[in-house]
Amino acid sequence: MTPKFLDTTLRDGEQTPGIVLKVEDKVEIAKAIDKLCVDFMEIGSAIASEGEREAIKSISNEKKKGNIHAQLLSFARIKKEDINYALNCGVDGIFLVAPTSDIHIKDKLNTTRENVKNAIIECVEFCKDNNLVVDLCCEDGTRTDINFLKEILKIAIELKVDRFTVADTIGTATIEKIAEIFRELKGVAKDKISLGVHCHDDFGMATINTVVAVRNGADVVDVTVNGLGERAGNAAIEEVAAALKFLYNYDVNINFKEILKVSKFVEKITGIGVARNKAIVGENAFTHGAGIHVDGILKNPATYEAINPEIFGAERKFVLGKLMGRKTVQNVLKEMNINVNEKQFKEIFEKLQFMADKGTRLTNFDVKQVANNVLNLSEKRSIILDELVAVSGNKFTPFASLKLMIDKKEIRSAGVGNGPVDAAINAIKNAAKDIPFEFLEYHVDAISGGSDAGVQVEIKLRSKGKTISARGIGTDIVLASVEAFLNGLNLIVE
Ligand SMILES: [Zn+2]
Repeated sequence: MTPKFLDTTLRDGEQTPGIVLKVEDKVEIAKAIDKLCVDFMEIGSAIASEGEREAIKSISNEKKKGNIHAQLLSFARIKKEDINYALNCGVDGIFLVAPTSDIHIKDKLNTTRENVKNAIIECVEFCKDNNLVVDLCCEDGTRTDINFLKEILKIAIELKVDRFTVADTIGTATIEKIAEIFRELKGVAKDKISLGVHCHDDFGMATINTVVAVRNGADVVDVTVNGLGERAGNAAIEEVAAALKFLYNYDVNINFKEILKVSKFVEKITGIGVARNKAIVGENAFTHGAGIHVDGILKNPATYEAINPEIFGAERKFVLGKLMGRKTVQNVLKEMNINVNEKQFKEIFEKLQFMADKGTRLTNFDVKQVANNVLNLSEKRSIILDELVAVSGNKFTPFASLKLMIDKKEIRSAGVGNGPVDAAINAIKNAAKDIPFEFLEYHVDAISGGSDAGVQVEIKLRSKGKTISARGIGTDIVLASVEAFLNGLNLIVE
């Protein structure tokens, strides 16, 4: 069986507290998610607002132009009005959400099971009359009387509903409960209708509950990129897809290679950061700290690595810090083509350990500096900052102009940005156009308390297949940032 994927990043995911997306953002996210080869996409709720309808229409247009392939759905309550709005936006179908638990029917809607049933029938018939695909979702399905769920499922089969989805709306289902529900429903559904599962992560169970549903008869999984969604979020596409494929050997048609890229793109546009220790897409997911682990991995990655990071377009990283082993440092030195004898290595390693013990987060640049120091090499820097002016204020676009010496040649350049740091970095980028690199990360920490605090800027660049980290320290955030950036570029050009 090949489980199908319904991505709801643009509907449930957009309900993540703190997310507001512009129409263009939604279109770009839809295109990115489509590259993951999901089967269906819930792209919003047409009744919600004019802006939402504009986004749904734009995404539907992209599909007409052939830029998106997934089947597109709009959320609708069991109200014809909601469906009408969706119909006018050009979607393929409706994610029709009907509250089915008694607490939702009585306390939320103040109605009866009978009324809910009738509304479902009326809405499904209306959708079918208008050639819309219907995914009927039982809201709070996991807290719904199983006999009522089965009754609705039978109606759905009769009305030729395309998919019947059970939502664990408040994320409280256990794996036993999920297994029982889907076994019961599969007994009724047989091969007459697809069964979908929609899980939330309030107890950190969204992924496992989704997998268990598939093991017990579900063939459609509802997911979001990075697990975005209401409260603690939804089941994450990267986790569900990877678990189904690599732990349970299902055929999964997701384009795994794109996963990290799409995750980072969604993170950037939504502004909702992925936790460092998040499975698959977190910064640390394939990063190894302990020396013993690094030693093992260099001998055979399978010793400490669950799965090859390249599958997801990610890469294995070794961290330089308190727990680093000799192998980690040797590896970094090798990458930077620095040859040392045993005595020199011992000295370098001890110095780095001393710095790490004091709490310094070490970068490639630190290793380089310490090594230069031990080897008595005068640092020959190719890129040197000579002059810099960076300006910001409330009435004009922040800009920076600077003079760099690149290989002893004087280069002047300027840049604008969303602040003085961005402007200065853009000015350097303009001056160093010939150096091939990608800017991966920028991180700033205040070293001490007040407004006179020193700052420490850490950056990561990528060039020729290698990731390079560097640091700048100072009381001026612009200068510290520029220092970090130039330190990184100098490592690249060496
Ligand atoms: Zn939901």
